[in-house]
Amino acid sequence: MFTLRDYQTETIDKVYQSMRQGHKRIIVQQPPRTGKTVIMAEIARRTTGKNNRVMFVIHRKEVLAQAKATFKQQNVDMGLATMGMVQSLSRRLDNLSPPDLILIDEAHHALAKSYVRILQAYPDAYVLFFTATPVRTGHDQLDQVADDIIVGKSIKWLTDHHFLAPYKYYGLGDIDRTKLRKRNGDYTVESMDQALDRKIYGNIVRQYQRLANGKQAVVYCHSVESAKRVMAEFEKAGISSAEVDGNTPAKTRDDLVAKFRRQELMILVNVNLFTEGVDLPNVDCVIMARPTQSLALYLQFSMRCLNPREGKTAIIIDHVDNFLTFGLPINDRDWEQAIVTKDKRTSKSTGDVGPAITQCQECFGTFYRSDMKDRCCPYCGHEMKAENKDYKVVNVDLQEIKNAELVKHRKDMAQKIIQDNLMSNIAGKSPGQLRTLQEFQAYAKLHGFKPGWAWYQYKNRRKH
Ligand SMILES: [Zn+2]
Repeated sequence: MFTLRDYQTETIDKVYQSMRQGHKRIIVQQPPRTGKTVIMAEIARRTTGKNNRVMFVIHRKEVLAQAKATFKQQNVDMGLATMGMVQSLSRRLDNLSPPDLILIDEAHHALAKSYVRILQAYPDAYVLFFTATPVRTGHDQLDQVADDIIVGKSIKWLTDHHFLAPYKYYGLGDIDRTKLRKRNGDYTVESMDQALDRKIYGNIVRQYQRLANGKQAVVYCHSVESAKRVMAEFEKAGISSAEVDGNTPAKTRDDLVAKFRRQELMILVNVNLFTEGVDLPNVDCVIMARPTQSLALYLQFSMRCLNPREGKTAIIIDHVDNFLTFGLPINDRDWEQAIVTKDKRTSKSTGDVGPAITQCQECFGTFYRSDMKDRCCPYCGHEMKAENKDYKVVNVDLQEIKNAELVKHRKDMAQKIIQDNLMSNIAGKSPGQLRTLQEFQAYAKLHGFKPGWAWYQYKNRRKH
């Protein structure tokens, strides 16, 4: 049996307290990597111990075997437990014994039809919705199916108490965000292909060598093709790496993961495979080469490397500006508000903006402005000059994505970043070194010249 950590016991106590208060369908929020499955197993043990039936519903087949093993280890009476994937369970509801308690894993998906079918089949059962991110990108939120929420410890608290490793976050912005298009709440693969310039793949290796050399890393890519390309670049640099995706045979995948565990492999490149549940304890660095609009995926990617170890500082390298959408992993998020379906919200949280994030021009370290030490970068000590750009981060978990204000805000933000890049590029140049009209315009703006100056200079140059 597992010995539960104090914060896990605290969560379990709160669950029973909520039930005693009359709630039947309760969201249990716990950050990634904090032992959600252990909490579920303990609740299942207590339930089956009283001769009540438990049903455990999971979203992905990769983690079912692992969850079963955890339940067995926790002495759950497996004769009273039904464990399975949502699709298969929802198709054989007629043949299953009705559960007294349903445990739903990755419950941010729980408004999907197959889940609703299960919930409707057992209206009298208690239901616990477990998720790190109780929020959906659309209009409807989890209050449609749940009547209470229990919020776990914050990521900051877990880090301060050594349950998660501290990290350094580097934002590199190699992506052209204007090319990204959305479908079903996340970016399309085709638009990600367009937005990621080919040069990013070599850059991934260079930045790894600069920021995390010698650390075992997991790379998140958006497609099999891009993942293979990243792997090839690592191999070219003499760094051992392997690629796994949904098409990799299970045996090959398990062998590669085992090799990675034994530290015989430095880099594991994957396409959406290492998200919830799959354990890889040696990861000290995460490289994001896949932009996402899903907060659940963002936290699963970025927090993958936060398993603590004495003296460890994890490295998160974000090539695709995910921090502009979600802030840093440690960002405080208002889950109680996030579960409320949009038009029922009482507080005016739409339009909320997170704390200012700033970036060191020396090391690309990305951090909250408040974490600067004597106006120096907390990572490398570089003195931050006044013109360093601040990013206003959007808390998407609090925002209506379709909201026109937000779309405009995003466009302004993208524009400002492009402008800022241009500004810093031309800052040290003389007019003779300028090439494009945009550069002349930025130069004029920087030096307070009239816009006509840029036109005149640009045209004049082209004559020569
Ligand atoms: Zn720095």
